[in-house]
Amino acid sequence: MQTFRRTASSFSLLALFAFSAALALRAFPQTNPPTSDSSTLVLNAQLADGSGVPLHEGALRIRGNRIVAVGKLAPAPGERVLDAHGLVLAPGFIDIHNHSLEGLDSDPLAETQIAQGITTAVEGPDGESPWPIADWIAARRKNPAALNVAVLAGHATIREQVMGKDFKRVASQPEIEKMAQLTWQAMNEGAIGLSSGLEYEVGSYSNTAELVAMARAAAEHGGFYSTHIRDEADKAFEALLEEIEIADQAHIPVDHSHIKLGTVGVWGKAYEYIRVISEARERGVDFLADCYPYEAWHSNIKVIVPDKQYENPKSVARALADLGGADHLTITAFKPNPSYEHHSLADIAKSNKLSPVEMYIRIIREGDAANTEAGVIGHSMIESDIKAFYQQPWVMVASDGGIGTEHPRGAGTFPRVLGRFVREKHWLSLPDAIRKMTSLPARRLNWPDRGVLKEGAVADLVLFDPNMVLDRSTFEKPQELPIGIEKVFVNGQLVWDSGKPTGARPGSVITR
Ligand SMILES: [Zn+2]
Repeated sequence: MQTFRRTASSFSLLALFAFSAALALRAFPQTNPPTSDSSTLVLNAQLADGSGVPLHEGALRIRGNRIVAVGKLAPAPGERVLDAHGLVLAPGFIDIHNHSLEGLDSDPLAETQIAQGITTAVEGPDGESPWPIADWIAARRKNPAALNVAVLAGHATIREQVMGKDFKRVASQPEIEKMAQLTWQAMNEGAIGLSSGLEYEVGSYSNTAELVAMARAAAEHGGFYSTHIRDEADKAFEALLEEIEIADQAHIPVDHSHIKLGTVGVWGKAYEYIRVISEARERGVDFLADCYPYEAWHSNIKVIVPDKQYENPKSVARALADLGGADHLTITAFKPNPSYEHHSLADIAKSNKLSPVEMYIRIIREGDAANTEAGVIGHSMIESDIKAFYQQPWVMVASDGGIGTEHPRGAGTFPRVLGRFVREKHWLSLPDAIRKMTSLPARRLNWPDRGVLKEGAVADLVLFDPNMVLDRSTFEKPQELPIGIEKVFVNGQLVWDSGKPTGARPGSVITR
């Protein structure tokens, strides 16, 4: 419905062009007069500039990889003109918690990502990153993607470098020093911060001192700390306090990953959680969080048993009760027995004539025998908590998914917030939602020239229809593409146009 057209470029009209250009320049004085062929003008857009101010009508000019003008602009001779017909033009969405490490190699066009308007994906969250960082960056530059990427250094990845298979214990002081030194090295190589996943096997054995030492090394390089905290369930408050302590001691800005309250015992406590965070922020802790717009999480089957007694019927029964029941847990992937996939634990137990606890233990044993773990989705958050988090000015939108993710968040997160939370439920205004997808993550990442529409900023852009934008990915069809995202530019180049990728792969690796 929008058209790219080139204004007449016949040589015989040159004089007329010169005349109209002079007029245009007089009417709209600008510091960067366009040269004909190299620029693109997006006209008649509603600008959501990323700052959160109300939408305003305007135009935007792109030259090379930059935005060179924003405001009331007229076409220059020979420049490409894109009539936005009143659609919303926003900075490209920055997904600060993205899982596309493998997908970027096999699917560099990243269709499920750019179709959502994501123009930059931050990889290596939850404590697991590529290693060495320098090699990954070099490989990505050799095989660029359609979108920009950046990478965090993973706490668990580094811990394994130092401790090898002997990680089921607290690290010694020399080991901690070595981990801090490797964090330092990763930051030097271009990582943008440190990530941790303290609910997962390797990270869970660390103590606070180890994390502070590594976070300090990241902070000294201007990095931030992205953390999947130790517990998002009954001990979510203790885990939050540890996170704040790490931020305090290491003087590091924080991104609390996928903020949630994931068990019956903490449901409805979002405002208490928010109060703890607000108090920390008031005394100077630089705390932001990200949140995906779903009531279900996606992880491995072991995370629900916090005491790691996976074969202890009592522990398992307690874990299933905390989730709200065995029907709240769905197996998404399990190589040793694919027949379990896409069924709830309650259903699998019934068809195997076992109790849910017995069935859980059987899946653990089958997984251990094959040296794998079942992927699961847990439907264990409640909407009122998600709403409360989304309404905090320090909460960003992030997917915690990526290319090929088996949870609908991997292909639906950003359009879902715009379609459901903004348009249907009115939880937040459109400019505010855009701010949470653009300038707020850009601030955490220390990228002043991304996440905003302003002269000189990088031309990562999304043009979308605010009346149509909506996710379509579901738990049954997690890869289904959203609708309403019309055009996406990465570094000034069109990568998504009217429902499909253009094939361009202008993505860069953004290092610290
Ligand atoms: Zn996580």
